Amino acid sequence: MSAGRFAPSPSADLHIGNLRTAVLAWLFARSTGRRFLLRVDDLDDRTFTDIGHRQIADLAAIGLTWDAEPEWQTQHPQRYAAAIERLAERGLLYECYCSRKDILQAPRAPHAPQGAYPGTCRDLTEAERAARREQTGRPPALRLRTDVITYTVHDVLHGDYTGIVDDFVVRRGDGVPAYNLAVVVDDAAQGVDQVVRGDDLLPSSPRQAYLAKVLGYPEPIYAHVALVLNEDGARLAKRDGAVTLAEIGVERALRQISESLGWTATDVNGMLAEFDADRLPKRPWIYRPD
Ligand code: GLU
Repeated sequence: MSAGRFAPSPSADLHIGNLRTAVLAWLFARSTGRRFLLRVDDLDDRTFTDIGHRQIADLAAIGLTWDAEPEWQTQHPQRYAAAIERLAERGLLYECYCSRKDILQAPRAPHAPQGAYPGTCRDLTEAERAARREQTGRPPALRLRTDVITYTVHDVLHGDYTGIVDDFVVRRGDGVPAYNLAVVVDDAAQGVDQVVRGDDLLPSSPRQAYLAKVLGYPEPIYAHVALVLNEDGARLAKRDGAVTLAEIGVERALRQISESLGWTATDVNGMLAEFDADRLPKRPWIYRPD
């Protein structure tokens, strides 16, 4: 059954911008008859369970509803391991011994896109691999052997979007599944076919859609919504004053979110009645605490 989702990382309490993205994800799902799911993306922030629980409580407090118990990524490591195993069996993974510095300093082909992995470890022989392993003394990351340079996804708000797909990491050197692998595997496992999230993640979507294709999963519908910025045009942060639900209060937060979208509703069900995906603001919302 089709579903939308919101998947916060539990690194800090949700701020008004995150809450607005969550409301939009819920509106997209509900207005299209989808289920709505929550997932706490805690692979990178595994010690912050209390923040994850607070995020869930805040989402409930603003009136969002979901159709299954929230999932926590750390609760099903076998899901990622199985996907990695499937890729490995098909010869699609290789070990990478590069540090960040190695990657930055590596010579790159004249047309290689900025920020793309230069392929240093892609074609090492077994002997070269053994030597690198010895030399670095740390466990290697696993990278996906891709056969494209770019990939185009379709986004409801941005149209066709083409971005880099390099040989990206699917498992980090410390054994933790990489973000790009984890979200793709989780979305498929949870039956998520609609991904609504902040447009800071738009550049990740070609890699994720490409990986979904490689794993035989359907590409989700994407909608990358504009972020909330402070008055200086920078990403909203704690120092911008009252930004969390505890500081703003439920009623005021809902009013601010609704107004930012040009609506008058004061709760999420009222917003659902006013929601029109084709008429969402394309520009970032500049947040001024009131
Ligand atoms: N957990 C990610 C974040 O909070 C979002 C994952 C996603 O929406 O795909 O940045």
